Amino acid sequence: MSSEISSPVFGGIEGGGTKFVCAVGTGPGDIRAQTRFPTTTPEETIECAIHFFQEQEKIHGRLAAIGFGSFGPIDPRPASVTFGHILLTPKPGWSMADVLGPLRQAFNLPMGFDLDVNAAALAEGRWGAGQGCDPLMYITIGTGIGAGVLIHGELIHGLLHPEAGHLPLPQDRTRDPFPGNCPFHGNCFEGLAAGPAIEKRWGQKAETLAPEHPAWELEAHYIALALCSYIYTLAPQRIILGGGVSQQPQVLRMVREKVPALLNGYIQSPHILERIDEYIVYPGLGNQAGVLGALALAEQAWRGAAQ
Ligand code: ADP
Ligand code: ZN
Repeated sequence: MSSEISSPVFGGIEGGGTKFVCAVGTGPGDIRAQTRFPTTTPEETIECAIHFFQEQEKIHGRLAAIGFGSFGPIDPRPASVTFGHILLTPKPGWSMADVLGPLRQAFNLPMGFDLDVNAAALAEGRWGAGQGCDPLMYITIGTGIGAGVLIHGELIHGLLHPEAGHLPLPQDRTRDPFPGNCPFHGNCFEGLAAGPAIEKRWGQKAETLAPEHPAWELEAHYIALALCSYIYTLAPQRIILGGGVSQQPQVLRMVREKVPALLNGYIQSPHILERIDEYIVYPGLGNQAGVLGALALAEQAWRGAAQ
């Protein structure tokens, strides 16, 4: 076995709607280089990633594989003609952009390509707060809402990938007249509870609202409603809440109160009845979950190519 095969080094890309994070390494504790840059046009942004990895290969030698966890929706089906593309997105310039193609052309390497939340779920399951939990659900509440689900250590795909952030939610219009801002559904979970919805409803950025503002109780109510649906349908053994909006500690506290109250004793599990603080948790890898997940996607692709 050559030394290249016995100690592979991977490249990882966390492609977000506002910024990209790229890293070279093998996992937590072994990030050899990392960079971030703003998300501009697809061509310019992917070119920045290519340049970073080309420079890193001069230092660390040839990468074994590259993993890419992208904002969605994406086409993750390798046999599809639009594999590696972003699908229809309200983000200007990015609809149907082939984001993987330029990387494949620049590097003749195995490539892993999946959603950013799927990458984060993979990393949390392997190294973070989701170890030993099956199924495991990772949810981000930020600019959008998305979720990745691991079952028996494998990410759920299917038609394309789950879109759990677009779950329809019951809305009491007397309490909350905001019509929702999802361009596809109006008042789905994302349309009611992602950061931009909070900003539009209350007229100021979510992070500037005081902890005692009524926005947070409403926010926790919507998150708790969604979590109940996920608990009923997927029976996750743990739910990890990531993303900027979740960083409000009062939101996590209220969600932990509201979920058992809404389930109303129906799910007779000690995870819910006795250990809710260990059941709904923050990411163990903090804001590194996405880029570490991209390295995990790279490793998966490398192992797949070796078989
Ligand atoms: P992204 O989803 O773009 O990767 P974030 O997870 O930080 O990035 O989400 C950004 C959204 O979350 C914005 O709408 C912002 O207003 C909101 N947000 C970011 N930080 C916080 C915070 N500490 N408290 C509440 N809302 C936040
Ligand atoms: Zn929607």
